[in-house]
Amino acid sequence: MIIVLKPEVSKEEIQKFSESIMAKYDVKVNAWYGTHATVLGLLGDTHEVDIESIAAQKIVESVKRVQEPYKKANRKFHPDDTVIEIGGHKIGGGELQIIAGPCSVESYEQITEIAKRVKQAGANFLRGGAFKPRTSPYSFQGLRAEGLELLLEAKNLTGMPIVTEIMSTDHIDLFENVDIIQVGARNMQNFELLKELGKLDKPILLKRGLANTIEETLMSAEYIMSSGNEKVILCERGIRTFETFTRNTMDISAVPIFKRLSHLPVIVDPSHAAGIPWLIEPLSLAAVAAGADALIIEVHNDPTKALSDGPQSITPDQFDNIARKVFAAKQSLKNIQ
Ligand code: PEP
Ligand code: MN
Repeated sequence: MIIVLKPEVSKEEIQKFSESIMAKYDVKVNAWYGTHATVLGLLGDTHEVDIESIAAQKIVESVKRVQEPYKKANRKFHPDDTVIEIGGHKIGGGELQIIAGPCSVESYEQITEIAKRVKQAGANFLRGGAFKPRTSPYSFQGLRAEGLELLLEAKNLTGMPIVTEIMSTDHIDLFENVDIIQVGARNMQNFELLKELGKLDKPILLKRGLANTIEETLMSAEYIMSSGNEKVILCERGIRTFETFTRNTMDISAVPIFKRLSHLPVIVDPSHAAGIPWLIEPLSLAAVAAGADALIIEVHNDPTKALSDGPQSITPDQFDNIARKVFAAKQSLKNIQ
């Protein structure tokens, strides 16, 4: 349920009113202060709440029930875009960011060389997997803790904030110096992991599951947010369909839909959506046109030798070209808006 308050209401009145609601009903009140109005979001069992008596209060403009099961992630609870700032770079709020790097961290030379190259081309964030979710237990599983150390070395060398995937609650302590923790598609509904990540004060990049709906993705964001961490970034990375030409099918419509339903930043991963290097450029441009706040792209200095996802990785030279085009596209869109 959301209660829109009249513009002139003071903070003290809001406080008193919120406390009276919490005393009377088994709900929590989440306040959002905008420039023109204050919105109170009621979380919990709102069935008992008497809408008419709330609407009759003189400080109340309107009261509405929120039908959607996601509340904190819902734009109705937080009309402005959420902007997440890391190392001076904003994700959300109109800028375009690129997160780039290899699928897996493989060595000091590999990660630092790729980091330097993608930074020069305009990427502000470095990605690289240390704990890898592989379909086969016989495939390279990542350098694990050593991979995280190497990523931190690349971060110290280049100043780039790092993004890397977590697969188990047992590893949370190892991620202390990671700037953005990724929850991969396969773990989107690992609810115990989501709840633990909700206790951190760190941005979480939540990838849409291989076969999950938009609403299920928002419900997973809700798990993290309802546990206390509101810094969630949604990521469209392609879903399973009957099409076999591409690794997955990039659901471009998910970008404007997520942005309409939620205030959270939305990013696109064309690498895992396509699985084909020559599709990265058109899909990246499509994502920018659809309103993505950032792209996450796999780049390898020698894709033929990559220990994971080599076939979909682009080279630093190809990345230079794509980055130039997507930043130009973003600029043109800003000019016509
Ligand atoms: C990855 O980012 O390397 C990855 C495994 O992604 P996803 O979870 O989207 O498959
Ligand atoms: Mn990968």
